[in-house]
Amino acid sequence: MWPRHGPVTTEWLSSYEEFAAWTSRAGVVADPSAPPSENAPRAAALAAFARVQACRDDMDEIFRALADGSAPPAAALRRMQLAYVEALANGQLLGDTQGCAWRWDSGSDLLAPLWTVVAAAVELLTHGPTDHIKPCHVCRFIFIDHSKNSSRRWCRMDDCGKAEKIARYLQRRSEAHRP
Ligand SMILES: [Zn+2]
Repeated sequence: MWPRHGPVTTEWLSSYEEFAAWTSRAGVVADPSAPPSENAPRAAALAAFARVQACRDDMDEIFRALADGSAPPAAALRRMQLAYVEALANGQLLGDTQGCAWRWDSGSDLLAPLWTVVAAAVELLTHGPTDHIKPCHVCRFIFIDHSKNSSRRWCRMDDCGKAEKIARYLQRRSEAHRP
């Protein structure tokens, strides 16, 4: 687990395949059973992954600044803007009687899942709720707080939520036993 401050000690995103697996789990790609990296040439997957990491770093800079109550850095926003333009250029605007939506075909483009993420990030940045973006109090992740009174302090109940509850319990116990 990363410390909240200081250098990043663990790289959670270490290959394109891992990114593809995450996009499947997160529902970013339409068909989770067919990750786009299957049968992709190695060099193409490596190049796509370099792009994924660069965009991830830009998003991290931008959303971390917002989570800390600061303005996002202009250089990262500019790079995000360029990625968004590329995403839209590679997407399709499709519509029916209910309305229109952008779609990226993950079957033919290794970067399609990334464009979906970039478009969602820009949607969040421009339409909010950016004031619900928070840093986890336990690890280095950032999350959107959907709790009723905006009081959540950790990214996921399963790990950081439990870790914080255990830490609080141990602190209360040590205080209770203090002479
Ligand atoms: Zn966390």
